[in-house]
Amino acid sequence: MTFDEVQIISDDVKMVGQKEKEKQEKWDRHFLNLCLQMCKMSKDPSTQVGCVIVGPDLEIRSTGFNGFPRGVSDDSRLHDRDCKLQHIVHAEMNAICNAARVGVPLKGCTLYICATDNGGHTWGGAPCMNCTKHVIQAGIREVVCYPFKDTLSKWGDEIRQAHKIFQKTGGVLI
Ligand SMILES: [Zn+2]
Repeated sequence: MTFDEVQIISDDVKMVGQKEKEKQEKWDRHFLNLCLQMCKMSKDPSTQVGCVIVGPDLEIRSTGFNGFPRGVSDDSRLHDRDCKLQHIVHAEMNAICNAARVGVPLKGCTLYICATDNGGHTWGGAPCMNCTKHVIQAGIREVVCYPFKDTLSKWGDEIRQAHKIFQKTGGVLI
């Protein structure tokens, strides 16, 4: 085999790698778009979060959005911030619980998530600390989200801390 032939093979490998990457990015965009659709189901007046959990063969295993537990009505409690935060189930937790409800395994899955607000902004909505602990325990190994909306709020610090823990346990955040 000549040096040129080696180059050609190596370029072919690079092309296959590039195609795989482009294919994965296309699927990532698709699942993040589905997360945006899930956001529309949320009744939260300030932040709507959508989540899709996908298996290794790109099959959807579960979905969720932030909202009150099943059976709790979407009433004035949604507009009382403290009450809302106490009652609401985050989108990631709802997706994990929805899978548990019907016995769908999430080990080795990828979790997609995005958040929107009434100002038309879309951002990462990466899992908070509580959700991250459950994401890890459910066996989810990868989280894909839009760029993180950096904020000095309580959530910003907590989410940064949650990223570190997820990555320390071998999780991948994209
Ligand atoms: Zn959360």
